[in-house]
Amino acid sequence: MELKEALPLANYSLPQFECGWVWLAGAGPGDPGLLSVHALNGLQHADIIVYDALVDKRILGWAKASAQLEYAGKRGGKPSPKQRSISLRLIELAKQGKRVLRLKGGDPFVFGRGGEEALALVEAGIPFRVIPGITAGIGGLGYAGIPSTHRGINQAVTFLTGHDQNGVTPDALNWQALAQGSPVLIMYMAMKHLKSIRDKLIAGGRSKTEAMAFVCNASLPNQKVLQTTLGNCVEDTEKAGIAPPAIVVLGDVVHLRHGLDWLGAMHGKKLQAHPLEGLALEAAQ
Ligand code: SAH
Repeated sequence: MELKEALPLANYSLPQFECGWVWLAGAGPGDPGLLSVHALNGLQHADIIVYDALVDKRILGWAKASAQLEYAGKRGGKPSPKQRSISLRLIELAKQGKRVLRLKGGDPFVFGRGGEEALALVEAGIPFRVIPGITAGIGGLGYAGIPSTHRGINQAVTFLTGHDQNGVTPDALNWQALAQGSPVLIMYMAMKHLKSIRDKLIAGGRSKTEAMAFVCNASLPNQKVLQTTLGNCVEDTEKAGIAPPAIVVLGDVVHLRHGLDWLGAMHGKKLQAHPLEGLALEAAQ
């Protein structure tokens, strides 16, 4: 059934996917149910879907039968099409009059190079729409029962990448300022340089006992969560076999998992209604 028939809404109609347009959409962290209605509408009408490695393959099953599926994945270390050639490909397909859905993991504008692709479209005069997605740093943590903010714990949160364009720990980041100024740090692509990130944060004044969590394959059936501390994170992730893709969070919000791990509760875990009670929180914030 078409979405339009399935979801009749007064005073609202979904946009039509016009020929020659590119829709730049986020697919969310993995669970197909986290796709937005706009993204699903795009999937149902696209002639071609250019998708990334982190897009769950089940999502592509929602494409119309005649749609062409084209992989443009980029995963660290493995050979991948250059960013410029992906942008050129989108332009070429749009110029052929196709309805092009560019589907990326999470949100296209969060460490996803969506802005670069959209600017290439602007330069080429190609019309486009942006469909935000649920980013792993928020939705992925939500599936682990960890809120990115919680009243009484943090009034700010920082999203950062543990990799720069050259694949090294980003030197452009002021790690000392981050350590001192941001009560919660949510880190993308942080596994490769975890040791160096840990050292920089401790050198910047962060306590070794501060709570830290790792969520791999967030929102997917093979989701794995490790709760540890900043001081023990390297050894513990090695022991637990935590591998990318993983989203990493440092801060007192991690303790809320004892109360909010709703997925765990589905498998019999007993949730605590007052998970912060009796804890010595990192008062520095
Ligand atoms: N645009 C994406 C981020 C792309 S960068 C977004 O908004 O989520 C790739 C990084 O995102 C991974 O290295 C990992 O840190 C994180 N990530 C994406 N999907 C994830 C998932 N399902 N589980 C855990 N981390 C994920």
